[in-house]
Amino acid sequence: MLMTDATRNSMPDMIEMRGKNKIILIAVEEMSELIKALLKNINRGKDNREDILMELTDVSMFLEYVKMIYGFKDEEIRDYQDKVTHEKVMPKIEAWKKSQLQH
Ligand SMILES: [Mg+2]
Repeated sequence: MLMTDATRNSMPDMIEMRGKNKIILIAVEEMSELIKALLKNINRGKDNREDILMELTDVSMFLEYVKMIYGFKDEEIRDYQDKVTHEKVMPKIEAWKKSQLQH
């Protein structure tokens, strides 16, 4: 995620100050807020793009904390994403494309 050096540099102190488990619980709370905003948008047809942006920003930030707490590097995540893309996503897309040709 794009973030300023000031933001990234503040994260270890924040983790030490609040404690790892508290930060993880806040991350979970933020994810639930994003889920709620998305459900409102889809289920109730609510025009809440600003809410989604705010919650997405919170989740992005706290995912960075979770990555830092568990020691996941961006490269490790990128490599796993690439593996999932090749092993799971691309075969599904190929199967879907083939099924589209049969119609
Ligand atoms: Mg939030």
